[in-house]
Amino acid sequence: MERRQDTTESAKAGWEHIIHGFTKIGSSPEIIFEAGNGIILRDTQGKEYMDLTAGVMNVNVGHGRKELGEAAKSQMVKLAYTPAMRGMTHTAVIECAARLSGFTPEGLAHFFFTSGGSESNEVALKFVRFYWRSKGKEKDKIISLNNAYHGSTYGILGATTMGQGAYWRNVGPLLPGFIHIPNFHCYRCSFGLEYPDCDTKCARFLAEVIKNEDTVGAFIAEPVQGAGGFIAPPPTYWPLVRQICTEHDILLIADEVITGFGRTGKMFAVEHWNVKPDILVMAKGITSGYVPLGAVAVSDEIFETLATSGSIFTHVFSYSGHPVCCAVAIKNMEIIVREKLTENAARVGKYIFDRLDSEFMEFEHVGNISGLGLLCGIDLVEDKTTKAKFDPAKGMGKHLVRCALDQGIKIAELGGLGGRIGISPPLTITLAEAAQAIDRLKPIFADIGKLVA
Ligand code: PLP
Repeated sequence: MERRQDTTESAKAGWEHIIHGFTKIGSSPEIIFEAGNGIILRDTQGKEYMDLTAGVMNVNVGHGRKELGEAAKSQMVKLAYTPAMRGMTHTAVIECAARLSGFTPEGLAHFFFTSGGSESNEVALKFVRFYWRSKGKEKDKIISLNNAYHGSTYGILGATTMGQGAYWRNVGPLLPGFIHIPNFHCYRCSFGLEYPDCDTKCARFLAEVIKNEDTVGAFIAEPVQGAGGFIAPPPTYWPLVRQICTEHDILLIADEVITGFGRTGKMFAVEHWNVKPDILVMAKGITSGYVPLGAVAVSDEIFETLATSGSIFTHVFSYSGHPVCCAVAIKNMEIIVREKLTENAARVGKYIFDRLDSEFMEFEHVGNISGLGLLCGIDLVEDKTTKAKFDPAKGMGKHLVRCALDQGIKIAELGGLGGRIGISPPLTITLAEAAQAIDRLKPIFADIGKLVA
């Protein structure tokens, strides 16, 4: 198979000094990108790619937005940095918080800012303990789902289960206090049941675990599992989970790092089910990846409990509410609304799902197509009747992704062990671009069998 490599001295001079994630240490990168515009990326050899991954599901407003660069520049020359802590703050973070409060679901409008998703989840975990201790309770344990991705820093790593421990190998032990339960995935139900006859067992199981454990403080989940495969829950899942958390007096954390800011066709995915979590975690789409920013929203109840406790949140990041990142977030949110990108994600997402369902499901090695909005997951199977996955050693997902790259399309291999392919373009993608993308992907998926051979 064709492999592209920029082996020029200038390229080598840089990459030899970098340890890349998810890459064999010391190996050379295959592709070096240098520019982007809309849904198109260009590499150092002038080859163009349709970016059907939107970076890592974060470049919601597409590449090459001059407005965002200008917002960063004008903030940088006005006030590049001053911290937001110890009784002092700045105008950019104030305006950003005010704007954000118009985006998040009602009652989730008190924010702590971070520099990304992992940091946000760390803060969410601290809020859980801080909240319960403010109420005189020791409720420290956290329940998360199998196949979840919540970040790679040591605290939250205990909740990241994707890839059956791939993220823990070589770096354990983890912090104690995490419990993992089966995830929702109707195509591959952990309980071997069928929806709706299952009575949403995957949600009800949470109640059983809480009853058998003491000191559970919170349940954390992605509304649609993201890096684990773009797996959407059955419609009854989130309302039931909300009810269970309330009944058992534990906090519900929705990790909307991927799903937030329009990606699923609603501003936040929990809106699909009218569910209000106690803590909402954001990053990625808040700035469309142009600069690093994350945020944690806590409910009025948590905020008021902490405020009346008189305690100080002894937690600090130098770049919490960084002025330049906040200025970019403000402009980014403006673009999402002005260009109706949430609505576009719903419209183009439906088009992509319709075409995948009607044209790809007939392929021998496509077992299931599911997701929500512009998170489209395609399950690769060796045998459609038994739903058997390819042996991970065959590296099918990688072969497929590389084959698409050779043809100028960037898609992602999801799920840690592969076997599921993701399509998650920028929310700006037009129907015409989506049509072209599907037309070009079709022969690749039709010929998966040949990749195996
Ligand atoms: N939470 C979810 C749902 C994510 O998908 C990710 C990253 O992909 C994270 C948290 C971690 O975010 P970051 O990579 O910005 O630390």
